[in-house]
Amino acid sequence: MNFRLTGEQLALKEQTRNFAKNEILPHWRRLRKKEFPWDIYRKLVEAGYAGGVIEERYGGAGLGMFEFFLVTEEMCRADGGVGLSIGASQSLVGKPIQNFGTDEQKNYWLPKIASGEILAAYCQTEPDSGSDVSSIKTRAHQHSYGTTFRITGTKQFITNGSIADLLLVLARTGEHKYNGLTCILVDAKKAREEGTLIVEKDFDKLGIHCSPTSTLVFQDCIVPALNILGAEGTGWPIAMVTLTGSRSMIAAQGVGLAQGALDEALTYVTQRKQFGKHLAEFQRVQGQLARIAMKLDAARLLGYRAAWLTDELGPMQAMDFMMEASMAKLYASEVVEEIASTAAELHGGMGFTTEARIGAIVEDARVLKIYEGTSAIQEYVIARQLLAKHGFKI
Ligand SMILES: Cc1cc2nc3c(=O)[nH]c(=O)nc-3n(C[C@H](O)[C@H](O)[C@H](O)COP(=O)(O)OP(=O)(O)OC[C@H]3O[C@@H](n4cnc5c(N)ncnc54)[C@H](O)[C@@H]3O)c2cc1C
Repeated sequence: MNFRLTGEQLALKEQTRNFAKNEILPHWRRLRKKEFPWDIYRKLVEAGYAGGVIEERYGGAGLGMFEFFLVTEEMCRADGGVGLSIGASQSLVGKPIQNFGTDEQKNYWLPKIASGEILAAYCQTEPDSGSDVSSIKTRAHQHSYGTTFRITGTKQFITNGSIADLLLVLARTGEHKYNGLTCILVDAKKAREEGTLIVEKDFDKLGIHCSPTSTLVFQDCIVPALNILGAEGTGWPIAMVTLTGSRSMIAAQGVGLAQGALDEALTYVTQRKQFGKHLAEFQRVQGQLARIAMKLDAARLLGYRAAWLTDELGPMQAMDFMMEASMAKLYASEVVEEIASTAAELHGGMGFTTEARIGAIVEDARVLKIYEGTSAIQEYVIARQLLAKHGFKI
């Protein structure tokens, strides 16, 4: 076992750190507005970050999920919303196309994602279907003798929904709870132009403001049957593999935000003086910093392990690292809230204002316990695996 990052990994982390520090971090105030930062996105694209995990033959950087963890951490250290929008397009849509797509689908869509020409969105959640994915109601009916499908329904809380030109939609094609689900790729630009895809709204949120979270309505949206990802009825396993593979990225977001909180706390306590001393000289403050650093490292190590397993075992063995992926996501998403809150406390009154960046981190941290499976769902996944290993099936 080797806990050291390779020279290449360290260089990638450093390069991303410098990029994020120069091109994202200075804009933190603006990124609290409900407006996607296209100028920053274009710089990210120019620097090659749009296609991190996309294979090189499609124009991407061909990074493994471990390397993508390093990139995501550094992006989110600067801003949670930017890190989310860039990451979701790749890990929730690019990755499943790479894993399950036909050559035509890969050749058509992956270069567009990798080059930054388009952003993509993963559409699973609905107004009446959140944690219970098997209750999805959005319908995809066969049409024109099976050559096309007609999609009808509403998707809610979709990251990048209003700005994405490609959607991966989990829709119902049959009655069975699980085998009746199918993943379908939708050319969103075309559907919007035809009026069969309506962006109903972008939510006002408590954090990650610059990353749009949308409600999308499909009204008899016709797509070719060739747009089915995998095969009809395989939507459930594709979704589970995709979410398991992507959970280490939520851990990376948490680690990045927590590192950003520690950065802010370190700067503040080494500048601010009370009782004639720097705050950093007080033993209690040192204890708080030490605990932040320890918990952050524990989250990072759990995240590293999950990302490493994702690369080592691959999508077909996702069941074998489901527990580790959920542990990484659950721990990082809980600990980041605690770390951000302690870091804000160390800012005193300033930590309760919008003038200090720590407030933005506190707000952004909140969402990680919710998306890609709430904490309750991660606990369920972990406990189910744990009990199964003990010979008890639920
Ligand atoms: C900013 C943001 C971005 C998002 N991006 C996307 C996206 O890109 N694509 C997408 O498809 N979705 C996305 N989501 C949706 C997200 O994945 C869901 O919000 C999440 O899965 C929870 O679903 P829900 O909101 O319907 O809550 P519910 O499922 O209604 O849960 C409400 C509460 O009940 C608890 N609960 C539910 N079932 C159980 C149970 N069996 N046992 C114990 N407790 C339970 C939950 O843990 C939670 O605390 C996003 C959400 C947000 C906020």
